[in-house]
Amino acid sequence: MDAEIISVGTELLLGQITDTNRPYVAKHLSELGLASYHQSIVGDNYKRMYDEMDQANRRSDLVILIGGLGPTEDDLTKQVAADVLGQGLVDDAQAMAKVENWHRDTGVTMVPSNRLQAKYIEGGQSIKNDVGFAVGSYYQNENGADFLLLPGPPWELEPMFDKYVLPLLQSVYSPEQVMESLVLRYYGIGESRLETDLRPLIDTQTNPTIATYAKKHEVTVRLTAQAATKTEAEALNQDLAQQVNNIVGSYLYGYGDDNSLAAMTNEALTENNLTVSVADAYTDGEIVDQLVPIQLRQDLDLDATIMGKQVPSAEAAADLAETLHVDTDGDIVLTILPSVNNPEVSMTNPDFTNEVVHVGLKFKEQPAQSFTRTLGRAHRDNMDTISFVGLDTIRRTALGLPLLNRK
Ligand code: AMP
Ligand code: MG
Repeated sequence: MDAEIISVGTELLLGQITDTNRPYVAKHLSELGLASYHQSIVGDNYKRMYDEMDQANRRSDLVILIGGLGPTEDDLTKQVAADVLGQGLVDDAQAMAKVENWHRDTGVTMVPSNRLQAKYIEGGQSIKNDVGFAVGSYYQNENGADFLLLPGPPWELEPMFDKYVLPLLQSVYSPEQVMESLVLRYYGIGESRLETDLRPLIDTQTNPTIATYAKKHEVTVRLTAQAATKTEAEALNQDLAQQVNNIVGSYLYGYGDDNSLAAMTNEALTENNLTVSVADAYTDGEIVDQLVPIQLRQDLDLDATIMGKQVPSAEAAADLAETLHVDTDGDIVLTILPSVNNPEVSMTNPDFTNEVVHVGLKFKEQPAQSFTRTLGRAHRDNMDTISFVGLDTIRRTALGLPLLNRK
């Protein structure tokens, strides 16, 4: 078994960009026990790409091509690979809908090459891109090497590789081993801080491997173990998860690729048989929209009751939570009061940053608490931040965990 890697891009040849994808892939191949004796870089030129792929097709068992799947004129990898393999390109309907919907929703004009990103090599399979538009391609070849095409941007390649390609390579080329992943989800800690805290583990750990990904407002950690059986692989992941959570466990909110903070907040409420009343004058209903109605007793319109009557402050947010606790029958009362000085309250510049928002909380008969968050992004992002803060505050209260209370 020889897995050959070819990085595609003239900018790589010119030294304008460092080829980080090739070592990323190479390291994982070696961890899978797959040999890679040939690795190269080729520019964005049809003939040289064709010759390189043709040679690889004849001498290797698997050819991994990285880059050149984008919509611009110099992105030729898919067409050249299809020609080398004597195949056409076919649409991935789901990916095509994603490209089309995005262009429709944003009003950006779509050009024919945008569609190319959603095509894969005929007779093979498409590999999903959760981050961008360009799908990967995998083609099992009866008459030569198998071909695997991956996107160039590292923030697209790495998640695609970890989530979809590794299990594929393992099952096809290393079937005596079983590979299992465990995804851990964290809210309230940044990726750099989490990576720093986990650095000693990441550096010494080879099986399972640890990969961290920053998502908007949260960080996920993927542990990937290999073993002779599924049970053994899962046990390795559980063991490492324990070590990881000994370090950053206070930020852990859940497990799994398809989980979310909202889902875990709702679960915490259901399991503890609790209801919530939310009085939110800031996020445009974002918090309430994510709560399952049966857990939401009241969705109170604050503008009518408080704005203009009382100067918003942390104390006012707590006072209001006390008052609403008496008036409503939610076990948890959450109040969100933006400072009156935020221009958004007076409906002006949507790009304004540095907003101040007060959050009040009352849980059953406990005294109300409050805290204040200062937000430094565009208003739209600030609203998102507060909706995460609100959900996490509810979740922590329902589970009896301490609040994060970050500034
Ligand atoms: P491409 O898919 O060739 O259009 O590449 C898109 C972008 O991904 C490039 O502009 C680079 O920033 C990055 N990129 C492509 N190939 C690599 C690579 N092998 N290593 C690191 N970054 C890359
Ligand atoms: Mg390129």
